[in-house]
Amino acid sequence: MVNNWIDIIQYSLLPPNCILCGGRGLAYMDLCQPCYHSLVRVGSHCICCASHFDNTDLNLQLCGDCLKNSPNFDKTYAPYSHQDALRYLINRCKFNGEYKYSRLLGLLLADYLRDYAELPELIMPVPLHPKRYRQRGFNQTLEIAKVISKKLAIPIDNTSCLHIKNTAHQVSLSAKQRHKNIKNAFALAAIPVAQHIAILDDVMTTGATVNEMARILKVAGVQRVDVWVCARA
Ligand SMILES: [Zn+2]
Ligand SMILES: [Zn+2]
Repeated sequence: MVNNWIDIIQYSLLPPNCILCGGRGLAYMDLCQPCYHSLVRVGSHCICCASHFDNTDLNLQLCGDCLKNSPNFDKTYAPYSHQDALRYLINRCKFNGEYKYSRLLGLLLADYLRDYAELPELIMPVPLHPKRYRQRGFNQTLEIAKVISKKLAIPIDNTSCLHIKNTAHQVSLSAKQRHKNIKNAFALAAIPVAQHIAILDDVMTTGATVNEMARILKVAGVQRVDVWVCARA
């Protein structure tokens, strides 16, 4: 609701300006037409984990990794590749905390989901460990989730899943170390009341974090777990 009023007041006083170049923004989006078209989309990709296929064989559906070890989640929706402008926007959203970055990322993802996704009953943003939350003062994933929730009219559940292990930053770790680091990092404080849930994260690199969160949701009996991310590395 607060976001709603900020939007109304800001857009009525000032037409949106492009966050990237300062030019005139699209209606209700802080991005201009040329910058919007310059964002790098994920091309041909695995339907399960959204990893990009170099081979453009249209018959390919699953990547080698998903064929070998089926992930705990069912489908990943990732509109953009984690490079250039998207990397910049996500970094600003994560470390700067300004509302305009989470709003833009939320709007971009919501537009894509409205066109392509089978919508779930609940959105679950990946929770931060309480210590990390205190340091940062906000959870950027929850801020993005609020924008999408409003756009697509899907409720957020940010209380059922807890981040209980203060894990090391995943960025510096190898894929194998990431899986080990995140193992048992989450716990459910309550069983979510939904059969179809979308886990929301800003960026997906190896998928270790969302895979671990999907695992406990599946163990708790949730039938379908999708992953929504703004960008795929
Ligand atoms: Zn621009
Ligand atoms: Zn895959």
